[in-house]
Amino acid sequence: MELNLDTPLSQLISVGKKREKDLEKLGLGRTEDILFFYPRRYLDLRNFKKISALVPFETASVKGNVLGREERNIRPRVSYLKVIISDGSGILPLVFFNQPYLKDVFLPGSQFFVHGRIDLYKGAFQVSNPLYEEDHPGRRDWLLPLYSLSGSLTQKYMRKLVKIVLASLREMPVEMFPLSERQDLGLSNIRFAIQNIHFPLSDMNLEKARNYLIFREFFMLQLNLLLNKKAEQSLPAGISTVMDRGLVKIFESFLPFKLTKPQKTVMEEIISDINDGKSIRRLIHGEVGSGKTVVAVFALWIIARAGGQAALLAPTEILAEQHYLNWQEFFLRQNINISILLGQMPEKDKENIRKSLEEGSTGVVVGTHSILTEKLLFKNLGMVVVDEQHKFGVGQREMLKQKGKNPHYMVMSATPIPRSVAMTLYGALDISTMGELPKGERKVVTYIFQRDEKEKIYTFLQDQSSLCRQGYVVTPSIDAGEDIESAVAECDRIKKRLPGVPVSLIHGRIPHAEKEKIMAGFRSGETRMLVSTTVIESGIDVPEASYIVIEQAERFGLAQLHQLRGRVGRSGDTGYCMLVVYEPEEGVMERLEEFANAQSGFEIAEIDLKIRGQGDLMGTRQHGIPPLRIGNIIRDLEILKSARNQAEKLFDKMTDEEIQEKFLGRRINEG
Ligand code: ADP
Ligand code: MG
Repeated sequence: MELNLDTPLSQLISVGKKREKDLEKLGLGRTEDILFFYPRRYLDLRNFKKISALVPFETASVKGNVLGREERNIRPRVSYLKVIISDGSGILPLVFFNQPYLKDVFLPGSQFFVHGRIDLYKGAFQVSNPLYEEDHPGRRDWLLPLYSLSGSLTQKYMRKLVKIVLASLREMPVEMFPLSERQDLGLSNIRFAIQNIHFPLSDMNLEKARNYLIFREFFMLQLNLLLNKKAEQSLPAGISTVMDRGLVKIFESFLPFKLTKPQKTVMEEIISDINDGKSIRRLIHGEVGSGKTVVAVFALWIIARAGGQAALLAPTEILAEQHYLNWQEFFLRQNINISILLGQMPEKDKENIRKSLEEGSTGVVVGTHSILTEKLLFKNLGMVVVDEQHKFGVGQREMLKQKGKNPHYMVMSATPIPRSVAMTLYGALDISTMGELPKGERKVVTYIFQRDEKEKIYTFLQDQSSLCRQGYVVTPSIDAGEDIESAVAECDRIKKRLPGVPVSLIHGRIPHAEKEKIMAGFRSGETRMLVSTTVIESGIDVPEASYIVIEQAERFGLAQLHQLRGRVGRSGDTGYCMLVVYEPEEGVMERLEEFANAQSGFEIAEIDLKIRGQGDLMGTRQHGIPPLRIGNIIRDLEILKSARNQAEKLFDKMTDEEIQEKFLGRRINEG
């Protein structure tokens, strides 16, 4: 029977009703699905152990000759077949249930590879229902594909099915890359890749097949992302007037410092986008302290001066408060009304602010991320800037639509990840990277302490305090949020241990007005030490703070630790970061030591990615990326970069429609 890519699997003789259902559970309906149903892994038949060297309960492979067989019916309708194999070093019984026909497979004298768990039965080794494969002379297919299974499907059956499909297909999925490109990129071709991903005849062939298929997968992903991004950004923006590039200079003249080059560049990019009639969808990516807030303020400012409204959203109320305090005067001097809207403000105040936003008398509003989920009406919302948040998914898109006139949208993130990874995760966003730090490289030295060394820390805190230095002591968060009890307890300990040192406690449940007072006390230097939950994590900017002690550091992610560490050493003096480890489990110390030695967020992101893998990064479907079948955006970063390049080039040569049709539509026959 000849097959097309579209032939339903149920038309194959070897696929009955039951198997059709089992295959469906794996997402396999048509023959083409089989081609792209890659093995989970391969069993390398060259790696096997001597039977005499086996240990109980390990999963292992052996190779041996069939000595004999023994058949029995243990109960009605339960049959049992025992096959004895030997490799000269010992004998091993294989046990199969309800597969009487295997008697004719394991013929005495023939040689088999078997793979399975070595069980102990009545004091002797045996293997139940192992994987098996008959050896044959001149063998080259040493790598046996192992597939995901469901229901009654077996590895043997899956292998047979894939073989049948490959042998009977009269077409292949379209070859996306012309020969010259494949040569440049070192790619094999689709036919080779599909054949060898299932049945590789050498390690090198498998490597080539993987490379091709990973590249192809990334390439299609990037095309989709780029198409979506263009569609997203070409929506007419609510605010689109022609703006003068000179605005950057004017803005700078209002600031107490000169802008860094990256700050200027990003500001100019923002103006260009607006002048091009694009809807801004931009991720601004930069090391802690690279001065992203100023860029955000610039964006708010140009929109407000053009008669629109702008919102700045921070992850915590403390941070919103800080932005508001720092920039209130700037906006008021420009005759732009700025308001802050926080959950715990009196209802009457909130009502007034809502009204002023609805009427349009407030130009800039600062709040937390939750603002946009509230029933807030804007007269003319033209820009949303989100600080320290790392997602742009369906939720955000919907939210922007609902707020009326398609506002511009920017995200500021201090979690640097490799550029091509960012372009993939934030496919719909343009990316600006802010490299240079305005105050030069910060130096923070990081030390690791065990719990029983806390005395040393208290001594250090005492010293710092007598030198009039300020800093933070941070306690860990628990799953759902902050762990207030441990902050309270730590604060009590410090007060007892260091009497006379001005200490304040801050956490999310302290009433707003109180928090404001505490922060003000810390900013002024009156309070020397702030004991805090992770509410200080992102963005808090008190330049004088010189140390941070992080309790139970093993409970934090590296990116989070880096954020916290970024709170200190901002004044130009060396900052100190002290990690206190309570449970030094395996791997914890290595991870924290790597962290201590790494200075830049970029290095840390790489360490973090290595540890967590892409699963975590892409875990939530928030990013809107389809699950990858073979590629891994971290492990295969180089291929990702190259596929991204290739996809971008295509957009210079072809229209969106052509790309859609040629690469992403239903495939075209090969010949
Ligand atoms: P982040 O990128 O981590 O959000 P911030 O925006 O909080 O960084 O900036 C860190 C500090 O650097 C702030 O005190 C800010 O006022 C200051 N700053 C920003 N830009 C400049 C600049 N061009 N020159 C000097 N200081 C700057
Ligand atoms: Mg910031």
